[in-house]
Amino acid sequence: MTVLVTPKALTDHKVRDFSMLIDGKWEPANSPPIERIAPGHGVVVSRFPAGTRADAERAIAAARKAFDQGSWPRMTASERSAVLLKAADLISARSEELALLDAIEAGKPISQVRGEIAGSVDIWRYAAALARDLHGESYNTLGDGTLGVVLREAIGVVSIITPWNFPFLIVAQKLPFALAAGCTAVVKPSELTSGSTVILGEILLEAGVPAGVVNIVTGTGPEVGAVMTSHPDVDMVSFTGSTGVGRQTMVSAAQTLKKVSLELGGKNPQIVFPDADLDSFIDAAVFGAYFNAGECCNAGSRLILHKSIASDVVQRIADLARHVKVGDPLDPATQVGAIITPQHLDKINAYVAGAQAGGAKLAYGGEPLDFGMGQFMGPTILDAVQPEMAVAREEVFGPVLSVLTFETTAQAIGIANAIDYGLSAGVWSRDFDTCLTIGRKVRAGTVWMNTFMDGASELPFGGYKQSGLGRELGRHAVEDYTETKTLNMHIGGRTNWWMPQNEKLA
Ligand code: NDP
Repeated sequence: MTVLVTPKALTDHKVRDFSMLIDGKWEPANSPPIERIAPGHGVVVSRFPAGTRADAERAIAAARKAFDQGSWPRMTASERSAVLLKAADLISARSEELALLDAIEAGKPISQVRGEIAGSVDIWRYAAALARDLHGESYNTLGDGTLGVVLREAIGVVSIITPWNFPFLIVAQKLPFALAAGCTAVVKPSELTSGSTVILGEILLEAGVPAGVVNIVTGTGPEVGAVMTSHPDVDMVSFTGSTGVGRQTMVSAAQTLKKVSLELGGKNPQIVFPDADLDSFIDAAVFGAYFNAGECCNAGSRLILHKSIASDVVQRIADLARHVKVGDPLDPATQVGAIITPQHLDKINAYVAGAQAGGAKLAYGGEPLDFGMGQFMGPTILDAVQPEMAVAREEVFGPVLSVLTFETTAQAIGIANAIDYGLSAGVWSRDFDTCLTIGRKVRAGTVWMNTFMDGASELPFGGYKQSGLGRELGRHAVEDYTETKTLNMHIGGRTNWWMPQNEKLA
Protein backbone atom coordinates (compact mmCIF):
# COMPACT_ATOMS: atom_id res chain seq x y z
CA MET A 1 0.00 0.00 0.00
CA THR A 2 1.34 3.40 -1.01
CA VAL A 3 -0.04 6.01 1.37
CA LEU A 4 -0.96 9.25 -0.29
CA VAL A 5 0.17 12.28 1.67
CA THR A 6 -2.63 14.80 1.82
CA PRO A 7 -1.46 17.48 -0.60
CA LYS A 8 -0.91 21.02 0.62
CA ALA A 9 -3.63 22.37 -1.67
CA LEU A 10 -6.09 20.15 0.16
CA THR A 11 -4.88 20.80 3.72
CA ASP A 12 -5.14 24.53 2.87
CA HIS A 13 -8.66 24.00 1.50
CA LYS A 14 -11.30 25.13 3.94
CA VAL A 15 -14.46 22.99 3.66
CA ARG A 16 -16.79 25.15 1.64
CA ASP A 17 -20.45 25.64 2.52
CA PHE A 18 -22.22 26.44 -0.71
CA SER A 19 -25.59 28.12 -1.17
CA MET A 20 -28.26 27.87 -3.84
CA LEU A 21 -29.09 30.72 -6.22
CA ILE A 22 -32.80 31.44 -6.54
CA ASP A 23 -34.13 34.64 -8.09
CA GLY A 24 -30.78 36.38 -7.70
CA LYS A 25 -30.48 35.61 -3.98
CA TRP A 26 -28.11 33.24 -2.27
CA GLU A 27 -29.86 30.75 0.00
CA PRO A 28 -27.74 28.73 2.43
CA ALA A 29 -28.74 25.26 3.61
CA ASN A 30 -31.60 25.36 6.11
CA SER A 31 -31.55 21.62 6.77
CA PRO A 32 -28.62 19.18 7.12
CA PRO A 33 -26.53 19.71 3.97
CA ILE A 34 -25.20 17.14 1.51
CA GLU A 35 -21.56 16.49 2.45
CA ARG A 36 -19.14 15.67 -0.32
CA ILE A 37 -16.29 13.34 0.58
CA ALA A 38 -13.41 13.78 -1.87
CA PRO A 39 -13.07 10.47 -3.74
CA GLY A 40 -9.30 10.81 -3.91
CA HIS A 41 -8.70 11.88 -0.32
CA GLY A 42 -11.54 10.49 1.79
CA VAL A 43 -12.27 13.75 3.60
CA VAL A 44 -15.23 16.13 3.46
CA VAL A 45 -14.43 19.02 1.11
CA SER A 46 -17.79 20.66 0.31
CA ARG A 47 -21.30 20.96 1.67
CA PHE A 48 -24.31 21.73 -0.53
CA PRO A 49 -27.87 22.61 0.51
CA ALA A 50 -30.21 19.63 0.11
CA GLY A 51 -32.71 21.42 -2.12
CA THR A 52 -36.36 20.45 -1.84
CA ARG A 53 -39.31 20.25 -4.20
CA ALA A 54 -40.40 23.65 -2.89
CA ASP A 55 -36.96 25.13 -3.72
CA ALA A 56 -37.18 23.74 -7.26
CA GLU A 57 -40.68 25.19 -7.64
CA ARG A 58 -39.51 28.63 -6.46
CA ALA A 59 -36.58 28.51 -8.88
CA ILE A 60 -38.90 27.61 -11.77
CA ALA A 61 -41.26 30.45 -10.80
CA ALA A 62 -38.31 32.88 -10.80
CA ALA A 63 -37.13 31.66 -14.20
CA ARG A 64 -40.69 31.88 -15.58
CA LYS A 65 -41.09 35.46 -14.35
CA ALA A 66 -37.67 36.42 -15.72
CA PHE A 67 -38.65 34.99 -19.09
CA ASP A 68 -42.20 36.36 -19.28
CA GLN A 69 -41.52 39.81 -17.85
CA GLY A 70 -37.78 40.34 -17.53
CA SER A 71 -35.19 42.09 -19.65
CA TRP A 72 -33.02 39.13 -20.72
CA PRO A 73 -35.17 37.74 -23.59
CA ARG A 74 -35.84 41.31 -24.75
CA MET A 75 -32.22 42.48 -24.95
CA THR A 76 -30.49 42.64 -28.30
CA ALA A 77 -28.34 39.67 -29.19
CA SER A 78 -25.36 41.99 -29.08
CA GLU A 79 -26.10 42.84 -25.44
CA ARG A 80 -26.53 39.16 -24.48
CA SER A 81 -23.38 38.27 -26.33
CA ALA A 82 -21.42 40.89 -24.38
CA VAL A 83 -22.58 39.36 -21.09
CA LEU A 84 -21.56 35.87 -22.23
CA LEU A 85 -18.13 37.15 -23.23
CA LYS A 86 -17.73 38.81 -19.83
CA ALA A 87 -18.72 35.51 -18.21
CA ALA A 88 -16.04 33.73 -20.24
CA ASP A 89 -13.42 36.21 -19.01
CA LEU A 90 -14.53 35.76 -15.40
CA ILE A 91 -14.44 31.96 -15.73
CA SER A 92 -10.94 32.28 -17.06
CA ALA A 93 -9.95 34.54 -14.15
CA ARG A 94 -11.30 32.03 -11.61
CA SER A 95 -10.14 28.94 -13.50
CA GLU A 96 -7.77 27.70 -10.80
CA GLU A 97 -10.48 27.83 -8.14
CA LEU A 98 -12.92 26.03 -10.45
CA ALA A 99 -10.34 23.41 -11.39
CA LEU A 100 -9.51 22.71 -7.76
CA LEU A 101 -13.19 22.22 -6.89
CA ASP A 102 -13.83 19.79 -9.75
CA ALA A 103 -10.59 17.94 -8.97
CA ILE A 104 -11.35 17.38 -5.32
CA GLU A 105 -15.11 16.80 -5.58
CA ALA A 106 -14.89 14.47 -8.61
CA GLY A 107 -11.42 13.00 -8.00
CA LYS A 108 -10.25 14.13 -11.43
CA PRO A 109 -6.60 14.88 -12.21
CA ILE A 110 -5.95 18.59 -11.74
CA SER A 111 -4.02 18.95 -15.02
CA GLN A 112 -6.93 17.46 -16.92
CA VAL A 113 -9.50 19.69 -15.20
CA ARG A 114 -7.48 22.77 -16.06
CA GLY A 115 -7.93 21.77 -19.70
CA GLU A 116 -11.67 21.27 -19.17
CA ILE A 117 -12.07 24.76 -17.70
CA ALA A 118 -10.11 26.26 -20.61
CA GLY A 119 -12.33 24.28 -23.01
CA SER A 120 -15.41 25.62 -21.21
CA VAL A 121 -14.19 29.21 -21.67
CA ASP A 122 -13.91 28.52 -25.39
CA ILE A 123 -17.48 27.19 -25.47
CA TRP A 124 -18.85 30.25 -23.66
CA ARG A 125 -17.09 32.44 -26.23
CA TYR A 126 -18.43 30.34 -29.09
CA ALA A 127 -21.99 30.63 -27.75
CA ALA A 128 -21.50 34.41 -27.50
CA ALA A 129 -20.59 34.47 -31.19
CA LEU A 130 -23.56 32.30 -32.17
CA ALA A 131 -25.94 34.55 -30.21
CA ARG A 132 -25.44 37.27 -32.80
CA ASP A 133 -26.01 34.98 -35.74
CA LEU A 134 -29.34 33.55 -34.60
CA HIS A 135 -31.84 34.38 -37.30
CA GLY A 136 -34.82 33.00 -39.12
CA GLU A 137 -35.74 32.89 -42.80
CA SER A 138 -37.85 34.87 -45.22
CA TYR A 139 -39.75 33.67 -48.30
CA ASN A 140 -40.37 36.26 -50.97
CA THR A 141 -41.15 33.54 -53.51
CA LEU A 142 -44.72 32.63 -52.53
CA GLY A 143 -46.51 34.85 -55.06
CA ASP A 144 -47.45 38.53 -55.15
CA GLY A 145 -49.96 38.18 -52.30
CA THR A 146 -47.73 36.51 -49.71
CA LEU A 147 -44.63 37.19 -47.73
CA GLY A 148 -43.46 34.50 -45.34
CA VAL A 149 -41.16 35.15 -42.41
CA VAL A 150 -39.90 32.38 -40.14
CA LEU A 151 -38.88 33.59 -36.70
CA ARG A 152 -36.67 31.91 -34.14
CA GLU A 153 -37.92 32.68 -30.64
CA ALA A 154 -36.37 31.62 -27.33
CA ILE A 155 -38.17 28.49 -26.18
CA GLY A 156 -38.66 29.77 -22.62
CA VAL A 157 -37.66 28.21 -19.30
CA VAL A 158 -35.05 25.44 -19.62
CA SER A 159 -34.25 22.83 -16.95
CA ILE A 160 -30.60 21.83 -17.13
CA ILE A 161 -29.57 18.64 -15.29
CA THR A 162 -25.92 17.55 -15.28
CA PRO A 163 -23.87 14.55 -14.06
CA TRP A 164 -20.73 14.31 -11.93
CA ASN A 165 -18.09 13.25 -14.43
CA PHE A 166 -17.45 16.61 -16.15
CA PRO A 167 -19.18 19.03 -13.79
CA PHE A 168 -18.10 22.34 -15.30
CA LEU A 169 -17.67 21.27 -18.93
CA ILE A 170 -21.14 19.75 -19.32
CA VAL A 171 -23.01 22.77 -17.99
CA ALA A 172 -20.93 24.78 -20.51
CA GLN A 173 -22.33 22.63 -23.30
CA LYS A 174 -25.86 23.74 -22.41
CA LEU A 175 -26.27 26.96 -20.44
CA PRO A 176 -24.46 29.52 -22.65
CA PHE A 177 -26.46 28.38 -25.69
CA ALA A 178 -29.75 28.60 -23.80
CA LEU A 179 -28.77 32.09 -22.60
CA ALA A 180 -27.64 33.10 -26.09
CA ALA A 181 -31.12 32.29 -27.40
CA GLY A 182 -32.71 34.43 -24.65
CA CYS A 183 -33.95 31.60 -22.45
CA THR A 184 -33.96 31.51 -18.67
CA ALA A 185 -32.85 28.44 -16.74
CA VAL A 186 -32.91 26.32 -13.64
CA VAL A 187 -29.73 24.28 -13.26
CA LYS A 188 -29.28 21.20 -11.09
CA PRO A 189 -25.73 19.87 -10.86
CA SER A 190 -24.98 16.39 -9.56
CA GLU A 191 -25.30 16.22 -5.78
CA LEU A 192 -21.71 14.87 -5.76
CA THR A 193 -20.01 17.71 -7.62
CA SER A 194 -22.06 20.89 -7.30
CA GLY A 195 -19.31 23.33 -6.26
CA SER A 196 -18.12 24.65 -9.62
CA THR A 197 -21.69 25.12 -10.89
CA VAL A 198 -22.53 27.25 -7.84
CA ILE A 199 -19.41 29.35 -8.49
CA LEU A 200 -20.68 29.75 -12.06
CA GLY A 201 -23.78 31.38 -10.54
CA GLU A 202 -21.55 34.00 -8.84
CA ILE A 203 -19.74 34.58 -12.12
CA LEU A 204 -22.95 35.06 -14.08
CA LEU A 205 -24.37 37.59 -11.64
CA GLU A 206 -21.08 39.51 -11.81
CA ALA A 207 -21.13 39.34 -15.61
CA GLY A 208 -24.53 41.03 -15.68
CA VAL A 209 -27.04 38.18 -16.00
CA PRO A 210 -30.19 39.60 -14.35
CA ALA A 211 -31.73 38.04 -11.23
CA GLY A 212 -33.93 35.02 -11.94
CA VAL A 213 -32.42 34.28 -15.36
CA VAL A 214 -30.13 31.54 -14.02
CA ASN A 215 -31.18 29.70 -10.88
CA ILE A 216 -29.04 26.96 -9.36
CA VAL A 217 -30.69 24.40 -7.11
CA THR A 218 -28.47 21.82 -5.46
CA GLY A 219 -29.90 18.53 -4.22
CA THR A 220 -30.83 15.10 -5.48
CA GLY A 221 -32.41 13.99 -8.72
CA PRO A 222 -35.50 12.36 -7.22
CA GLU A 223 -36.23 15.48 -5.12
CA VAL A 224 -35.16 18.47 -7.25
CA GLY A 225 -34.63 16.95 -10.72
CA ALA A 226 -38.02 15.26 -10.80
CA VAL A 227 -39.78 18.64 -10.37
CA MET A 228 -37.59 20.19 -13.06
CA THR A 229 -38.60 17.54 -15.61
CA SER A 230 -42.34 17.57 -14.88
CA HIS A 231 -43.31 21.12 -13.93
CA PRO A 232 -45.77 22.69 -16.40
CA ASP A 233 -43.91 26.04 -16.36
CA VAL A 234 -40.76 24.44 -17.83
CA ASP A 235 -40.60 24.46 -21.64
CA MET A 236 -37.55 22.31 -22.27
CA VAL A 237 -35.31 19.85 -20.42
CA SER A 238 -31.66 19.48 -21.32
CA PHE A 239 -30.28 16.43 -19.54
CA THR A 240 -26.91 14.69 -19.47
CA GLY A 241 -26.58 11.51 -17.48
CA SER A 242 -27.28 7.81 -17.58
CA THR A 243 -29.58 6.25 -20.16
CA GLY A 244 -31.87 4.96 -17.38
CA VAL A 245 -32.47 8.39 -15.86
CA GLY A 246 -32.65 9.91 -19.36
CA ARG A 247 -35.52 7.57 -20.13
CA GLN A 248 -37.29 8.59 -16.90
CA THR A 249 -36.73 12.23 -17.83
CA MET A 250 -38.45 11.73 -21.16
CA VAL A 251 -41.42 9.97 -19.56
CA SER A 252 -41.74 12.73 -16.98
CA ALA A 253 -41.44 15.51 -19.59
CA ALA A 254 -44.01 13.76 -21.82
CA GLN A 255 -46.82 14.62 -19.41
CA THR A 256 -46.65 18.25 -20.55
CA LEU A 257 -44.95 17.55 -23.91
CA LYS A 258 -41.78 19.46 -23.17
CA LYS A 259 -38.95 19.47 -25.64
CA VAL A 260 -36.23 17.11 -24.40
CA SER A 261 -32.55 16.99 -25.25
CA LEU A 262 -30.63 14.00 -23.90
CA GLU A 263 -26.91 13.22 -23.81
CA LEU A 264 -26.64 9.72 -22.39
CA GLY A 265 -24.28 6.77 -22.10
CA GLY A 266 -21.98 5.12 -24.60
CA LYS A 267 -20.09 1.89 -25.24
CA ASN A 268 -17.82 3.21 -27.89
CA PRO A 269 -15.83 0.92 -30.21
CA GLN A 270 -12.42 1.51 -31.73
CA ILE A 271 -12.12 -0.66 -34.84
CA VAL A 272 -8.53 -1.40 -35.80
CA PHE A 273 -7.31 -2.77 -39.14
CA PRO A 274 -3.89 -4.36 -39.74
CA ASP A 275 -2.70 -1.43 -41.87
CA ALA A 276 -3.25 1.13 -39.10
CA ASP A 277 -0.51 3.33 -37.65
CA LEU A 278 -0.30 1.15 -34.57
CA ASP A 279 2.05 3.45 -32.64
CA SER A 280 -0.56 6.20 -32.77
CA PHE A 281 -3.37 3.78 -32.07
CA ILE A 282 -1.79 2.22 -28.96
CA ASP A 283 -1.54 5.64 -27.34
CA ALA A 284 -5.14 6.49 -28.37
CA ALA A 285 -6.39 3.17 -27.01
CA VAL A 286 -4.84 3.85 -23.60
CA PHE A 287 -6.06 7.46 -23.61
CA GLY A 288 -9.54 6.48 -24.83
CA ALA A 289 -10.05 3.82 -22.21
CA TYR A 290 -8.43 5.40 -19.14
CA PHE A 291 -8.95 9.14 -19.55
CA ASN A 292 -11.09 10.35 -16.63
CA ALA A 293 -10.70 6.84 -15.14
CA GLY A 294 -13.03 5.60 -17.87
CA GLU A 295 -15.85 7.57 -16.23
CA CYS A 296 -16.61 9.14 -19.54
CA CYS A 297 -19.58 8.73 -21.88
CA ASN A 298 -17.11 8.86 -24.78
CA ALA A 299 -14.70 6.28 -23.37
CA GLY A 300 -13.31 3.94 -26.01
CA SER A 301 -14.24 0.99 -23.85
CA ARG A 302 -14.53 -1.60 -26.66
CA LEU A 303 -11.67 -2.50 -28.93
CA ILE A 304 -12.64 -4.39 -32.05
CA LEU A 305 -9.28 -5.63 -33.37
CA HIS A 306 -8.50 -7.49 -36.54
CA LYS A 307 -7.68 -11.03 -35.47
CA SER A 308 -4.25 -10.97 -37.15
CA ILE A 309 -2.96 -8.17 -34.90
CA ALA A 310 -4.98 -8.76 -31.73
CA SER A 311 -2.47 -10.49 -29.46
CA ASP A 312 0.38 -8.11 -30.35
CA VAL A 313 -1.85 -5.06 -29.85
CA VAL A 314 -3.16 -6.27 -26.48
CA GLN A 315 0.40 -6.82 -25.28
CA ARG A 316 1.47 -3.35 -26.42
CA ILE A 317 -1.54 -1.69 -24.74
CA ALA A 318 -0.74 -3.53 -21.51
CA ASP A 319 2.90 -2.40 -21.75
CA LEU A 320 1.84 1.23 -22.11
CA ALA A 321 -0.95 1.00 -19.48
CA ARG A 322 1.75 0.08 -16.94
CA HIS A 323 3.15 3.62 -17.31
CA VAL A 324 -0.14 5.46 -16.77
CA LYS A 325 0.18 7.42 -13.55
CA VAL A 326 -2.75 6.68 -11.27
CA GLY A 327 -3.00 8.57 -8.00
CA ASP A 328 -3.56 11.82 -6.19
CA PRO A 329 -5.90 14.02 -8.25
CA LEU A 330 -4.00 17.10 -7.05
CA ASP A 331 -0.61 15.90 -8.29
CA PRO A 332 -0.06 17.64 -11.65
CA ALA A 333 1.62 14.48 -12.99
CA THR A 334 -1.45 12.28 -12.32
CA GLN A 335 -3.23 10.96 -15.42
CA VAL A 336 -5.93 8.84 -13.77
CA GLY A 337 -7.55 10.00 -10.54
CA ALA A 338 -10.05 8.43 -8.16
CA ILE A 339 -13.31 6.52 -8.71
CA ILE A 340 -16.31 8.69 -7.89
CA THR A 341 -17.72 6.66 -4.95
CA PRO A 342 -16.97 3.38 -3.14
CA GLN A 343 -20.29 2.01 -4.47
CA HIS A 344 -19.26 2.77 -8.03
CA LEU A 345 -15.94 0.99 -7.51
CA ASP A 346 -17.92 -2.09 -6.37
CA LYS A 347 -19.96 -1.91 -9.58
CA ILE A 348 -16.81 -1.78 -11.72
CA ASN A 349 -15.32 -4.73 -9.84
CA ALA A 350 -18.50 -6.73 -10.36
CA TYR A 351 -18.24 -6.20 -14.15
CA VAL A 352 -14.62 -7.38 -14.17
CA ALA A 353 -15.43 -10.46 -12.05
CA GLY A 354 -18.53 -11.24 -14.14
CA ALA A 355 -16.56 -11.03 -17.39
CA GLN A 356 -13.91 -13.42 -16.10
CA ALA A 357 -16.57 -15.83 -14.87
CA GLY A 358 -18.03 -15.71 -18.41
CA GLY A 359 -14.71 -16.65 -20.05
CA ALA A 360 -12.93 -13.31 -20.64
CA LYS A 361 -9.20 -13.27 -19.82
CA LEU A 362 -7.71 -10.61 -17.59
CA ALA A 363 -4.78 -9.27 -19.61
CA TYR A 364 -3.84 -6.46 -17.24
CA GLY A 365 -4.92 -4.82 -13.93
CA GLY A 366 -8.28 -5.81 -12.56
CA GLU A 367 -7.75 -4.87 -8.93
CA PRO A 368 -8.60 -1.71 -6.98
CA LEU A 369 -5.47 0.21 -5.89
CA ASP A 370 -5.03 0.98 -2.21
CA PHE A 371 -3.38 4.35 -1.56
CA GLY A 372 -4.58 4.54 2.04
CA MET A 373 -7.25 7.11 1.22
CA GLY A 374 -10.06 7.45 -1.30
CA GLN A 375 -10.83 4.75 -3.90
CA PHE A 376 -8.82 4.01 -7.02
CA MET A 377 -8.68 1.50 -9.81
CA GLY A 378 -5.88 1.19 -12.34
CA PRO A 379 -6.05 0.44 -16.05
CA THR A 380 -7.64 -2.94 -16.72
CA ILE A 381 -7.77 -4.99 -19.92
CA LEU A 382 -10.18 -7.86 -20.53
CA ASP A 383 -9.21 -9.99 -23.52
CA ALA A 384 -11.28 -12.63 -25.35
CA VAL A 385 -14.51 -10.77 -24.64
CA GLN A 386 -17.51 -12.05 -26.60
CA PRO A 387 -20.06 -9.60 -28.09
CA GLU A 388 -22.93 -10.97 -25.99
CA MET A 389 -21.19 -10.43 -22.62
CA ALA A 390 -22.44 -7.63 -20.35
CA VAL A 391 -18.97 -6.06 -20.33
CA ALA A 392 -19.15 -5.75 -24.14
CA ARG A 393 -22.63 -4.21 -24.19
CA GLU A 394 -23.08 -2.18 -21.01
CA GLU A 395 -21.43 0.98 -19.81
CA VAL A 396 -18.95 0.04 -17.05
CA PHE A 397 -17.92 3.67 -16.48
CA GLY A 398 -14.54 2.65 -15.13
CA PRO A 399 -10.99 2.05 -16.47
CA VAL A 400 -11.90 -1.26 -18.09
CA LEU A 401 -11.12 -2.05 -21.71
CA SER A 402 -12.88 -4.96 -23.43
CA VAL A 403 -11.14 -6.57 -26.39
CA LEU A 404 -13.11 -8.26 -29.18
CA THR A 405 -11.89 -9.45 -32.58
CA PHE A 406 -13.11 -9.52 -36.19
CA GLU A 407 -12.03 -11.00 -39.51
CA THR A 408 -14.06 -9.08 -42.11
CA THR A 409 -15.10 -5.43 -42.33
CA ALA A 410 -18.77 -6.45 -42.32
CA GLN A 411 -18.19 -8.39 -39.11
CA ALA A 412 -16.51 -5.38 -37.47
CA ILE A 413 -19.45 -3.14 -38.40
CA GLY A 414 -21.89 -5.79 -37.14
CA ILE A 415 -20.17 -6.02 -33.75
CA ALA A 416 -19.91 -2.23 -33.46
CA ASN A 417 -23.63 -1.75 -34.16
CA ALA A 418 -24.97 -4.70 -32.18
CA ILE A 419 -25.56 -2.78 -28.97
CA ASP A 420 -28.12 -0.25 -27.74
CA TYR A 421 -25.68 2.67 -27.60
CA GLY A 422 -24.43 4.85 -30.48
CA LEU A 423 -22.50 7.78 -29.08
CA SER A 424 -19.10 7.62 -30.76
CA ALA A 425 -16.66 5.28 -32.50
CA GLY A 426 -13.12 5.21 -33.87
CA VAL A 427 -11.63 3.59 -36.95
CA TRP A 428 -7.90 3.03 -37.53
CA SER A 429 -6.62 2.30 -41.03
CA ARG A 430 -4.38 4.03 -43.57
CA ASP A 431 -6.89 3.07 -46.25
CA PHE A 432 -9.28 5.87 -47.20
CA ASP A 433 -12.03 3.49 -48.34
CA THR A 434 -11.90 1.49 -45.13
CA CYS A 435 -12.18 4.62 -42.99
CA LEU A 436 -15.09 6.03 -44.97
CA THR A 437 -16.94 2.73 -45.09
CA ILE A 438 -16.75 2.43 -41.31
CA GLY A 439 -17.51 6.14 -40.92
CA ARG A 440 -20.74 5.78 -42.89
CA LYS A 441 -21.90 2.40 -41.63
CA VAL A 442 -21.31 2.68 -37.88
CA ARG A 443 -24.36 4.15 -36.17
CA ALA A 444 -22.82 6.74 -33.87
CA GLY A 445 -23.02 10.52 -33.46
CA THR A 446 -19.25 10.96 -33.91
CA VAL A 447 -16.78 8.74 -35.79
CA TRP A 448 -13.09 9.51 -35.31
CA MET A 449 -10.69 8.44 -38.03
CA ASN A 450 -7.11 7.76 -36.96
CA THR A 451 -7.65 9.69 -33.75
CA PHE A 452 -9.91 9.41 -30.72
CA MET A 453 -11.88 11.73 -28.43
CA ASP A 454 -10.86 14.95 -30.14
CA GLY A 455 -13.44 17.71 -30.16
CA ALA A 456 -14.10 21.37 -30.86
CA SER A 457 -16.89 23.78 -29.98
CA GLU A 458 -17.81 23.91 -33.69
CA LEU A 459 -18.46 20.15 -33.95
CA PRO A 460 -21.88 18.79 -32.96
CA PHE A 461 -21.90 16.12 -30.26
CA GLY A 462 -24.58 13.61 -29.31
CA GLY A 463 -25.77 10.08 -29.76
CA TYR A 464 -27.69 7.70 -31.98
CA LYS A 465 -30.01 5.06 -30.50
CA GLN A 466 -30.08 4.98 -26.69
CA SER A 467 -27.12 7.36 -26.40
CA GLY A 468 -29.43 10.33 -26.65
CA LEU A 469 -31.62 12.74 -28.52
CA GLY A 470 -30.47 15.92 -30.21
CA ARG A 471 -26.99 17.42 -30.52
CA GLU A 472 -25.01 19.87 -28.46
CA LEU A 473 -22.29 22.28 -29.67
CA GLY A 474 -21.89 23.13 -33.34
CA ARG A 475 -23.45 26.07 -35.15
CA HIS A 476 -27.03 24.91 -34.56
CA ALA A 477 -26.62 24.62 -30.78
CA VAL A 478 -28.43 27.89 -30.06
CA GLU A 479 -31.33 26.92 -32.35
CA ASP A 480 -32.02 23.96 -30.08
CA TYR A 481 -33.21 26.42 -27.46
CA THR A 482 -35.70 28.11 -29.78
CA GLU A 483 -39.21 27.66 -31.12
CA THR A 484 -39.94 28.32 -34.78
CA LYS A 485 -42.77 30.72 -35.58
CA THR A 486 -44.20 31.37 -39.03
CA LEU A 487 -45.50 34.82 -39.89
CA ASN A 488 -47.65 34.38 -42.99
CA MET A 489 -48.43 37.86 -44.29
CA HIS A 490 -50.92 38.79 -46.95
CA ILE A 491 -50.39 41.69 -49.30
CA GLY A 492 -53.44 43.34 -50.96
CA GLY A 493 -57.10 42.22 -51.01
CA ARG A 494 -57.74 38.65 -49.91
CA THR A 495 -59.76 36.18 -52.02
CA ASN A 496 -62.79 35.10 -49.96
CA TRP A 497 -63.35 31.41 -49.40
CA TRP A 498 -67.15 31.33 -49.80
CA MET A 499 -67.76 33.46 -52.89
CA PRO A 500 -66.20 33.81 -56.28
CA GLN A 501 -63.29 36.18 -56.50
CA ASN A 502 -64.23 39.90 -56.63
CA GLU A 503 -67.97 39.24 -56.10
CA LYS A 504 -69.32 41.89 -53.69
CA LEU A 505 -71.66 41.17 -50.75
CA ALA A 506 -75.26 41.99 -51.67
P1 NDP B 1 -27.35 9.93 -13.51
O1 NDP B 1 -28.23 9.65 -14.63
O2 NDP B 1 -27.45 9.11 -12.29
O3 NDP B 1 -27.55 11.45 -13.01
C1 NDP B 1 -27.48 12.55 -13.87
C2 NDP B 1 -28.21 13.70 -13.26
O4 NDP B 1 -29.60 13.37 -13.20
C3 NDP B 1 -27.78 14.00 -11.82
O5 NDP B 1 -27.81 15.39 -11.61
C4 NDP B 1 -28.84 13.30 -11.02
O6 NDP B 1 -29.01 13.80 -9.72
C5 NDP B 1 -30.06 13.56 -11.88
N1 NDP B 1 -31.20 12.68 -11.60
C6 NDP B 1 -31.19 11.47 -11.00
N2 NDP B 1 -32.46 10.99 -10.90
C7 NDP B 1 -33.26 11.91 -11.47
C8 NDP B 1 -34.67 12.01 -11.67
N3 NDP B 1 -35.51 11.05 -11.27
N4 NDP B 1 -35.15 13.10 -12.29
C9 NDP B 1 -34.33 14.08 -12.71
N5 NDP B 1 -32.99 14.06 -12.53
C10 NDP B 1 -32.46 12.99 -11.92
O7 NDP B 1 -25.90 9.96 -14.11
P2 NDP B 1 -24.54 10.14 -13.35
O8 NDP B 1 -24.51 11.44 -12.60
O9 NDP B 1 -24.28 8.90 -12.60
O10 NDP B 1 -23.53 10.32 -14.58
C11 NDP B 1 -23.02 9.26 -15.26
C12 NDP B 1 -23.81 9.00 -16.53
O11 NDP B 1 -23.83 10.16 -17.35
C13 NDP B 1 -23.16 7.93 -17.37
O12 NDP B 1 -24.09 6.97 -17.77
C14 NDP B 1 -22.62 8.67 -18.61
O13 NDP B 1 -22.52 7.94 -19.75
C15 NDP B 1 -23.55 9.80 -18.72
N6 NDP B 1 -22.90 10.91 -19.40
C16 NDP B 1 -23.23 11.17 -20.71
C17 NDP B 1 -22.61 12.17 -21.42
C18 NDP B 1 -23.02 12.47 -22.83
O14 NDP B 1 -22.85 13.60 -23.24
N7 NDP B 1 -23.55 11.55 -23.59
C19 NDP B 1 -21.55 12.98 -20.82
C20 NDP B 1 -21.29 12.65 -19.45
C21 NDP B 1 -21.96 11.64 -18.79
P3 NDP B 1 -28.19 13.24 -8.46
O15 NDP B 1 -27.22 12.23 -8.96
O16 NDP B 1 -27.56 14.45 -7.91
O17 NDP B 1 -29.19 12.64 -7.54
